[in-house]
Amino acid sequence: MTATTPFLPDTRDETTDAWLTRRNGTLCAEAVPLSAVAQAVGTPFYAYSAAALRANYAALAAAVAPHRVTVCFAVKASSNRNVLAEFAALGCGMDIVSGGEMTRALAAGTPPSRIIFSGVGKTRGEIRAALRVGLHQINVESAAELEVVAAAARELGLRAPVALRVNPDVDALTHAKITTARKDSKFGIAAAEVPALYAEAAARPELEMVGLAVHIGSQILDLAPFRQAWAAMAGLVRVLRAAGLPVARLDLGGGLGIGDDSHPGPDLAEYARIIGETVGGLDLALNVEPGRWLCGRAGVLVSEVLYLKPGEGADFAIIDAAMNDLMRPALYEARHPVMPLHPPRDGAARAYRLVGPICESSDDFGSYPGLGPLAAGDLLAFRHAGAYGAAMSSTYNSRDLIPEVLVDGAQFRLIRARAGIDAALRLEEPGPWSHAG
Ligand SMILES: *Cc1c(COP(=O)(O)O)cnc(C)c1O
Repeated sequence: MTATTPFLPDTRDETTDAWLTRRNGTLCAEAVPLSAVAQAVGTPFYAYSAAALRANYAALAAAVAPHRVTVCFAVKASSNRNVLAEFAALGCGMDIVSGGEMTRALAAGTPPSRIIFSGVGKTRGEIRAALRVGLHQINVESAAELEVVAAAARELGLRAPVALRVNPDVDALTHAKITTARKDSKFGIAAAEVPALYAEAAARPELEMVGLAVHIGSQILDLAPFRQAWAAMAGLVRVLRAAGLPVARLDLGGGLGIGDDSHPGPDLAEYARIIGETVGGLDLALNVEPGRWLCGRAGVLVSEVLYLKPGEGADFAIIDAAMNDLMRPALYEARHPVMPLHPPRDGAARAYRLVGPICESSDDFGSYPGLGPLAAGDLLAFRHAGAYGAAMSSTYNSRDLIPEVLVDGAQFRLIRARAGIDAALRLEEPGPWSHAG
């Protein structure tokens, strides 16, 4: 396989795991044995497939293109600038939720005209910076935020391109902690309040009201909630237009889920069809902002087994990755498929409970039958770890942020080095005392 070999996903999602294969029994990322990466950078580490990132973008962009939909990558899912650069080079836009993410998106080569600023709590400073840079659009989530955007635009003598993020009161039928559009959610503006606010905003010279935005949640496998939400948005667009208000754009949000061995992922063609059926006929510039779908299956977390110890029901395998490296199981009860790097072994097939070294009972990745007999020193790959893995990691228990590696064909390179505890200690050098009053 060469650097240019595309891994073509079909519309069913498990196929983009095709970058992970066994060669002579050993698990490889594209043409690179993951054990070689482990040797080079130490465990635990994240590895991403550049070919899979590119193939995912190509598949999604192609599926939605007939409906005039552009794709913006939700930076928070995987914010390494090198991952962003892979997408930016293909013309992908970015959906950001902080000033830090704006800096990353720009550093990765994304033009400001392809960046959308989402998020419920943008600071004044972040809003000013976004306006100065000239981002494509600011998705405003409250009347109070709209005031701050307007004030910043006046101060800077600019017009702010604004969309209102709507809360359509739709249950995304996903985990409660990643549901964002029910009535009681902190996100968006209640649909009933949108027409008045939009009209008021459209009358202000410092605001350019460009349209509406919606984002109903994450890891959505059943497409029905998308249909419900987008149909509600179409209704709202018609209401606004009937009142003589201009609506040129509609941001359809992210949230497209990825399947696993037990659940096929959503069908891209069906996803695109629902876009066409709900909002396709409204002459809108549309965009989607997927994070997970573009990068989740393109990454693995590789960890070494430190110790085995007998346990009730399943034996414990204590590994060197922990909840600070991959938080999703502790936070969302997420379960990542796991593959050993070594060839399948004969022997009693028992279940192992994979747990990390952190002093929290929730530092537990779950119970895994079918890994075969394990031994200390074995390496395991947690699949589907390319989204909300490294991006969510912390240094809890004074553990280092772990390396990230990008694989491309037969080569790989470090794209984030270990910071090291010394760097952390340097930030904790005490400053001089200040005297108050
Ligand atoms: C998190 C988020 C996304 C991306 O969600 P995924 O489930 O990763 O696709 C898109 N838009 C907004 C506003 C978000 O907060």
